[in-house]
Amino acid sequence: MDDFMNDAYNDLFTTTQCPSQQELMDYVQGKLSPEKQHEVELHLSDCELCSEAVEGLSAFEKKEIIPVYLRQMKWQMLRKLKSRKQKKDQIASHTQLAIICIIILFMLLAAFWAYHFVTHPGK
Ligand SMILES: [Zn+2]
Repeated sequence: MDDFMNDAYNDLFTTTQCPSQQELMDYVQGKLSPEKQHEVELHLSDCELCSEAVEGLSAFEKKEIIPVYLRQMKWQMLRKLKSRKQKKDQIASHTQLAIICIIILFMLLAAFWAYHFVTHPGK
């Protein structure tokens, strides 16, 4: 009978007394004692108002994490940009090599033509 009374009292307690916003904040951050955490949990299952408040607060909590996430994104982007730049440099050096090869080929061709005109004049 005492247990029943206790439960009834607890039910009354959880449905009528809403935790303060600070308590809800502490609950979201896991700062409450296990007993208090459980108490708030019980209350949340009964009280739509507070469970919504906790949802809002945990969304706020996630926002605190966003700067770290953004920093990671920025870092990844910088890394991507860097690797792309390295690729560009590689392409540039390949182009330079191709141009040098073409110049050498033209010089060889010019030398061959000059040799041809010297050895076969008039033809
Ligand atoms: Zn409540």
